[in-house]
Amino acid sequence: MDNQAAILEGRRTGLARSAVRLTGGVSDTARLRQLLEAALTALDESAVLRAGPLPAGGPDAVARRIRTAVDDLVPAEGIGEIAALTRFARVMAAESVDPTDPACQAHLHCPPLAVAVAADAVASVLNPSLDSWDQAPAATVLESRLVAELAGLVGYDPNTAGGVFTSGGTESNLMGLLLAREAVLAERFGVDTVRDGLPAVVLGRMRVYTSAAAHFSMQRSVALLGLGESAVVAIPVDHRQRMDLSVLRRELGRGDTVPLVIAATAGTTDFGSIDPLPELAELARQHRTRLHVDAAYGGGALFSTRLAGLLDGIARADSIALDFHKFGWQPIAAGLFLAGRSADLAPLARQVAYLNPADDEDAGYTSLLHRSLRTSRRPDMLKVAVTLSALGRNGIGELVDACHELARYAADRIDAHDRLELTASPVLSTVVFRYRGPRYPDAAAIDAINAALRRELLATGTAIIGRTDLGAESGGVRLKFTLLNPHTTRADVDTLIAAVVAAGDREAGR
Ligand SMILES: *Cc1c(COP(=O)(O)O)cnc(C)c1O
Repeated sequence: MDNQAAILEGRRTGLARSAVRLTGGVSDTARLRQLLEAALTALDESAVLRAGPLPAGGPDAVARRIRTAVDDLVPAEGIGEIAALTRFARVMAAESVDPTDPACQAHLHCPPLAVAVAADAVASVLNPSLDSWDQAPAATVLESRLVAELAGLVGYDPNTAGGVFTSGGTESNLMGLLLAREAVLAERFGVDTVRDGLPAVVLGRMRVYTSAAAHFSMQRSVALLGLGESAVVAIPVDHRQRMDLSVLRRELGRGDTVPLVIAATAGTTDFGSIDPLPELAELARQHRTRLHVDAAYGGGALFSTRLAGLLDGIARADSIALDFHKFGWQPIAAGLFLAGRSADLAPLARQVAYLNPADDEDAGYTSLLHRSLRTSRRPDMLKVAVTLSALGRNGIGELVDACHELARYAADRIDAHDRLELTASPVLSTVVFRYRGPRYPDAAAIDAINAALRRELLATGTAIIGRTDLGAESGGVRLKFTLLNPHTTRADVDTLIAAVVAAGDREAGR
C-alpha cells in the first residue's frame, strides 16, 4: 500500500503520477503511440529469438527461460512502462507458438488479421462496456446492427432474430442449451426455471442429444445446467462422422424422457463434418424439442459461395454458435450466439437499478445486458465489423476457400504417400491421418509411434500438428492438420508432410 500511495503522490519512485498515463481516449494518443511503437519494435526484434513455429526444448525449457527473463512478476518497485512492455513482448514472442508459421497447423487457432488486431486495439483504447447504453452508445448500436446482419447471413429474419457476441463456442453452446431448456420446460410444463429451478417431474428425464463427435463443451454445459452429464445422449456417428439419424430417431422415440434439445454440430473440431441439419430440424419439430447448431468452426463456410451449401438448413435451428476467432481470422475472443427468435433470449433479461433502470429503457436507452450471461463486456464485435467492412464477405470467403483447397491438396499428398494413411477426405480445412511405418507393427505400436512423432516435432520446435483419438473401435491415435493459414503454400504443406514422415521413420526405427 505504501508503494501505491507513493506512486500516486509521485514521490519516492521514478514513476510520478503524471508519468502513469491513461490512454486518454481519442484526445491523447501520443503516449499510447510511443508504447505501441516500443512494443512493436520488441516484437520485430524477437523474430530472431525463435527459430521455428514454437519454442524448442519442451515445457521445462520454456519455463526455465521465462523465469530467467522475468524473475519477479509483482515487484515492489516498477521498472517503467517501456522497459516492462519490451521485456514481456520479447519473452512472449520468443516463447509463444506462431500461428502465422506454415508449420503451425494443429488447432482451430488462426493467425489473426492485422486489421482485426488494430481494431481490437481501438476497442481497448475506448473501452466501451456493453452492459449498459451509457457505457457504450456506439458499440450498442453497432453490435445490434451487426448481429441483425449476421442473422440475415445465416438465413434468419433479421427483424425477429436476436443474438449477442460471446467469448466463443463454449459460452454460445451453454447459452443455446440453457435457452432450449427454458423454452421446452416452459412450453411443456409451464414452469419458469429461472425463477423456480427445475421441477421435480422432469428430474432424471431430461435429455440432450448430440453426436459422439460433438465438442466437449456440450457435456460441460449440461453439467453446468444441473442436469448431470448422464443427461447427454451421445449419438454415434456414421462413416462420415455425422450424427447417425437412425439411432437418434430410436433414442427420441423412447417414452418417459424429456428431450430438451438436439445439439448438432456444423463442422466438428476434428473432421469438419456437418450433421444433417434439415433432417435434425424436422426431428426437433416432430418431438417438440429444440435444435441448437454448433457452427463454431463450420460457420466460416457461410462466407464461401463454394462451401455455403454445406450449411443448408441451418436457418431452421432455434439457435446457432459461430466463432470468428477460428475460421474468421480474428484475435480471440470473437464468438457469436444467434437465436432465430429474439424472444427466446428473455430468460437472460435483467433489470438492474444501477445499469438499465426501466424508465431509462422506456426512454430509448436500451441495454444489451438483456442478451448476455456476462456483465462487463468488451466490444468484440468491432474487429469483426472492421474486418467484414475491409474484406467484404467475399474477401473472407476467399480465405476460407484457400484453406479448403490446401486441405484437399494435403489430403491428396497424404493419400498418395506409402507411409501415411488418410482417415477421411476433408470437409472444411482439417485433414486427419496417421503414419504407417515401413514395417507394419500392431495397433498399439502404431498409436505410440504417432503420438511420439508429434511430441518429437514439438520438442524440437519443428512443427505443431494436431492429434486426436478415434477410440478403440475405430483404431486409435490420429494426426491432424488444421489449415487456417491462407498464406500457407503447397510447398509448405509438402515440407510439413516430409517432416512428419521423417519423424515417424525415426520413431518407428527405435
Ligand atoms: C472450438 C470449438 C468450440 C469451442 O469454442 P471456443 O471459442 O473455444 O469456446 C465449440 N465447438 C466446436 C465445434 C469447436 O470447434
